[in-house]
Amino acid sequence: MLTDTHSHLYLDDFAPEKTETVSRALEAGVGKLIFPNVDLTTIAQMRELHAAFPDCTYMAMGLHPTEIGENWRYDLSTVGRELDSNAADYIAIGEIGIDLYWDKTYRSEQMEAFSIQVDWAVERNLPVIIHCREGLDEVLEVLSSKEVKPQAVFHSFGGTTEDVRRIRETGDFYFGINGIVTFKNSKLSEVLPAIGEERIVLETDAPYLAPVPYRGKRNESAYMVATAAKVADIFGKSQEEIAEITSANARRLFTKLV
Ligand SMILES: [Zn+2]
Repeated sequence: MLTDTHSHLYLDDFAPEKTETVSRALEAGVGKLIFPNVDLTTIAQMRELHAAFPDCTYMAMGLHPTEIGENWRYDLSTVGRELDSNAADYIAIGEIGIDLYWDKTYRSEQMEAFSIQVDWAVERNLPVIIHCREGLDEVLEVLSSKEVKPQAVFHSFGGTTEDVRRIRETGDFYFGINGIVTFKNSKLSEVLPAIGEERIVLETDAPYLAPVPYRGKRNESAYMVATAAKVADIFGKSQEEIAEITSANARRLFTKLV
């Protein structure tokens, strides 16, 4: 059984068939799904889809770095209140991090918001789902500044062996591998052995980054089977073995997964 550690099936991209996308994932062998929050507008939809599948879906609460703008302190305090009021519902803090790809205006605010949310994770003994795009220096600077580091996954990892080395130097973190690994121009097949199978978790990042042969389409969790097949290929393992290994990794990282 596979575990999709990063999926946004609750977004309106999937309306009016949100529940069907979860059913299709289950039929395809993706038995557990983690929904990371994005911003204030996505909390209710995420909770609604989780409520329809309380046994196989899990939620993470956080404020996404691209949503850090002028009102970020207000938004972050709202996210913090949600976390406090429904603490038992959340298995991780995420997705949080740094994204300077689109806009560098709020670089220091992104770092401060990331730092605050990392502290929340440590205080609550929860793992962190990190979104890092053109922001590795900043992410590592924040993590390095923490005496106690949380467990964390670098979600949608597409970096180099050198990035892996720098991340490893900072802490014993995990790497979320998605459809990027199936892309022809991706160098990930050379990087994955440097990560090692014991630190890889699988994800879709649906609706984004659909794996080949679905590339360019709206992604959904059922398609993760294609990513698992490619990762199995890279390690010379069977798909069943890779499913077992990466799901066990997910349970070690997300300790509230059952
Ligand atoms: Zn995401």
